[in-house]
Amino acid sequence: MREHVRAVLARPEFEKPEEPLPTAEYREKVMDWAKELAETGGPSLLFPKEFGGYGMVGAAIAAFETLAHSDLSLLVKCGVQFGLFGGAVHHLGTRKHHEAYLKEIATLELPGAFAMSESGHGSNVQNVGTTATYDPEAEEFVVDTPTPQDRKDYIGNAADHGRLAAVFCQLVIGGENKGVHALLVPIRDEDGSVSDGVRIEDCGHKLGLNGVDNGRLYFDKVRVPRDNLLDRYATVSPAGEYSSPIENRDRRFFTMLGTLIQGRVSVGGAAISATKSALTIAIRHGDRRHQFGPPDSDEELPLLDFRAHQRRLLPALATTYAFSFTQISVVAELDRIFGREDVDQERRELETRAAGLKALATWHATETIQTCRECCGGAGYLTENRFAELKADTDVFTTFEGDNTILLQLVAKSLLTGFRDEFGDMNPFETAGFYAGQAWETVVERTGGREILQRLTDDLIPSRERDEDLLDRDYQLNLFRWREDHILAGVARRLKRGMDDGTEPFEVFNSAQDHVLETARAHVEREVLEAFVQAIEDCQDPGLREVLGRLCDLHALATLERNRAWYQEHGRISSTRAKMVTRQVNELCWALRPDAVDLVDAFGIPDAVLAAPIGLPGGEASRTAMADIGDELPDAGMLLGEAGIATAS
Ligand SMILES: Cc1cc2nc3c(=O)[nH]c(=O)nc-3n(C[C@H](O)[C@H](O)[C@H](O)COP(=O)(O)OP(=O)(O)OC[C@H]3O[C@@H](n4cnc5c(N)ncnc54)[C@H](O)[C@@H]3O)c2cc1C
Repeated sequence: MREHVRAVLARPEFEKPEEPLPTAEYREKVMDWAKELAETGGPSLLFPKEFGGYGMVGAAIAAFETLAHSDLSLLVKCGVQFGLFGGAVHHLGTRKHHEAYLKEIATLELPGAFAMSESGHGSNVQNVGTTATYDPEAEEFVVDTPTPQDRKDYIGNAADHGRLAAVFCQLVIGGENKGVHALLVPIRDEDGSVSDGVRIEDCGHKLGLNGVDNGRLYFDKVRVPRDNLLDRYATVSPAGEYSSPIENRDRRFFTMLGTLIQGRVSVGGAAISATKSALTIAIRHGDRRHQFGPPDSDEELPLLDFRAHQRRLLPALATTYAFSFTQISVVAELDRIFGREDVDQERRELETRAAGLKALATWHATETIQTCRECCGGAGYLTENRFAELKADTDVFTTFEGDNTILLQLVAKSLLTGFRDEFGDMNPFETAGFYAGQAWETVVERTGGREILQRLTDDLIPSRERDEDLLDRDYQLNLFRWREDHILAGVARRLKRGMDDGTEPFEVFNSAQDHVLETARAHVEREVLEAFVQAIEDCQDPGLREVLGRLCDLHALATLERNRAWYQEHGRISSTRAKMVTRQVNELCWALRPDAVDLVDAFGIPDAVLAAPIGLPGGEASRTAMADIGDELPDAGMLLGEAGIATAS
């Protein structure tokens, strides 16, 4: 599937314009590209066979990730149309909706929008203000925006192209609020004129993604037929009787949101792809670009031979591989359980993994793309070399499909409740009531196999510390697991203590929020390392295993280095050991230097798609030279580099 998408994107019609287009033209260009993609049949991968699709969610996400090497407005336009809008109709609707719309959504004959966020409520979507009130006389819902804060905001495909929107509203039946549900509301006619009772505003120019037409929607008592309720989880009879297989209103809402998990997985994957694009450009450039050299030589060294340059790029490369392997395992699991009804616990665990990975991978993208830009100096600042676009377009990945900080709170909540369903309906603050009674026991139960209680009280610094321990995979895994267990147990104890003191649950949870977020981060870091280790175990090629092993060491130790203050504070590593970590990171950077270009070539991004002049392949000569120099170079190379800088200045 990836090969197929690469071939499609390398076609001349997907070539990027030389200069950035004015917004209106750019939006039309992106729409034309999206239609071209729709013609390949790719978007149908997501949808069931009986409605003209292929029912291959894993392949669909692999295709989406590959598309992320190309124009990111095109990616997001497709994400909105096929993933969010199509996903809402597919997962929240029933057969009548599938028959009526899925085919036209996949071919883009029916452009649509996913209208959940409002100006007043973005993260807290359970409190959206838009209402849909049932009128049994007319057998219609009346959709309304009560106050300006309740307008739908930032909605992709709304400003120019969308004709139908999946609108999330408080459903009011017989005067009673049944919670948030989605309805299909026409927003434009076929000729593009705005539907009666609907007002649309353009969000205007944005920091990035300006090929996507984001807009605001206001509804003035717009009437839609009863059948427009996406009724997989709740139905309303003609007479106005409401029924749902999920009785609890909050749990119903979270179940609905859970079915839309593919969007979150896709954004995480797209962030990883964009990071790969940036690293490909910066590492190839760093391999080719020469600056400074030994004072007694006319030759200058490639940037990547300088330790500081390696330090900036190679740990980021290692972590990108780590996220990539984690993403592959998340997509495989999604593909395995997608659409199955008998896998509740696995589904909840997968939702948690997807949330955590999306948060850390998108933050990693933002940080790494900036680093790559700086590593390319002035050339990195030129629009033709793509960093301007990569930075601006991926920035919002940390915010949409769930703000990262909110997502980490969800991860922590799942950990503290042991993924149990009865808590799925509580928001993080409400869950505090539960933590008071049981979180500690949950944590002890969960981590019992790892003898956490024992280890929390042990003197953990071994008497003899050896460098080679740091390259021992079990030692690395144990450190990551210990950190997760320790923080999780600590936060559970802290919440319990607060509640035992009689403090309000909201306040207890709020005052421990930083601790809660750290729990989630430690959990995801452990999962990511485990996914890397698994990928190495699965690798059959001995040469490749060796390089991946070094790369995994670099990822693990660079992460440890970032967290070393915490490990020292908690008596888990000594200051001597902390210094060893830094030394090992340096050595691993040198060891991986000769493989750096191969490791980005392996991302397989076609030149025509990468489309950055400084990122095109090359630099063979300096790579060979570096490999020949062998192990002698490290410290000497750095010193010579410094001398060169002094001479030049
Ligand atoms: C380009 C773009 C495209 C979008 N496309 C769509 C779309 O197609 N459809 C759609 O429905 N929506 C869309 N959105 C909306 C997006 O999903 C929301 O912006 C996002 O969910 C965040 O909501 P918010 O903007 O209201 O931020 P807020 O919820 O106000 O959050 C602001 C900040 O406060 C923090 N915060 C909030 N609550 C807490 C808390 N309890 N504890 C600690 N910190 C907290 C957050 O972490 C964040 O940093 C889009 C947004 C953008 C920018």
